[in-house]
Amino acid sequence: MSSLREIGEFGLIRKIQEWLSGSKSEDVVQGIGDDAAVVVTGKEAKEAWVISVDAFMERVHFDLLYTPMRALGYKVVMATASDICAMNVFPRFFLLTLAVDNRLDDVGLIEDFYQGIREACETLNMVVIGGDTTTSVRGVAIQGVAIGVGQQEEIVYRKGARPGDMICVTGDLGAAYLGLQLLERERKIFMENPRARLQIEERYAYLYRRLLKPRARTDVLQILRGLGIRPTAMIDISDGLASDLLHLCSQSQVGCVIYERALPMDETARRVAIEFHLDPTTAMLSGGEDYELLFTVCPEDARKLEGHPDVTIIGEIVEEEKGRVLVSRGGKRYALRAQGWDAIG
Ligand code: ADP
Ligand code: MG
Repeated sequence: MSSLREIGEFGLIRKIQEWLSGSKSEDVVQGIGDDAAVVVTGKEAKEAWVISVDAFMERVHFDLLYTPMRALGYKVVMATASDICAMNVFPRFFLLTLAVDNRLDDVGLIEDFYQGIREACETLNMVVIGGDTTTSVRGVAIQGVAIGVGQQEEIVYRKGARPGDMICVTGDLGAAYLGLQLLERERKIFMENPRARLQIEERYAYLYRRLLKPRARTDVLQILRGLGIRPTAMIDISDGLASDLLHLCSQSQVGCVIYERALPMDETARRVAIEFHLDPTTAMLSGGEDYELLFTVCPEDARKLEGHPDVTIIGEIVEEEKGRVLVSRGGKRYALRAQGWDAIG
């Protein structure tokens, strides 16, 4: 008997893939293994459906003490839609399931939740087409399903990166994780003294927003189309840059070199990292929940992106034998690991 703890989430997903390996269809262009599944409805089809599901569990993914219901609804749509964006496709339709326990007895709160769903759908031009409502024994549990429709030739997978491609990331990294540290600190103070009020400070507004109200980067998909750029590979950053870059590299069977000095971070986020005695680079590599896009482009397309305010070039793709490497500010080379990095040699 193998233990779940030993094999971890990704080990389990590999096993699930084996258990289901018999269930195949010619209409499935991409099954388990990318940000979203890609299916067509016949050999000649130029268009494909792009579909992804995500789960959000109370106290695992969100805490209702500091997460307004409206922000929760907004985030569920954005986080789920982000996986469709990661395929270079615009998300269009949304379904969700909502399970609540009897502690949540106020219809107004559920209305707030749906206001957030609406706001996010309006921002992304998506439509809610259904869902399911039920009770849970304990806690709020939500699943979101996002669906997009794309031309088969425009869809970008995790597996297309080639040596010589440049590695790009949108926005900045680590801020959501640091927002979480701030809010979790407030939660602990509150748990010890329920009369304490949560200190929500204006100077940290950006970090709270990055955690509570992320934005799926459909705007970047527009920018790339405008510049005539089709990335060679793409993934969204939900688990942290290191983990998601390693997924992209292993699916593409390539190595990579990224530069610490190139990694984009917000200045307040950097200061809060130091306040928490965390290395800012660790927060960027392992923080997660950024919902930014990580993609690779050929050198010619990279030139079009140089100096772009929404995109940062952080390194390049190399042959697989050269490994997956972070070059520190001091010029030292470290092996990238799913949780940060290890010294080489
Ligand atoms: P992401 O972080 O982009 O949401 P995940 O790491 O959750 O991706 O999932 C990776 C791949 O594994 C996806 O293709 C997803 O559909 C698939 N997957 C994850 N969990 C399961 C499961 N329980 N059963 C079947 N497929 C799964
Ligand atoms: Mg993803």
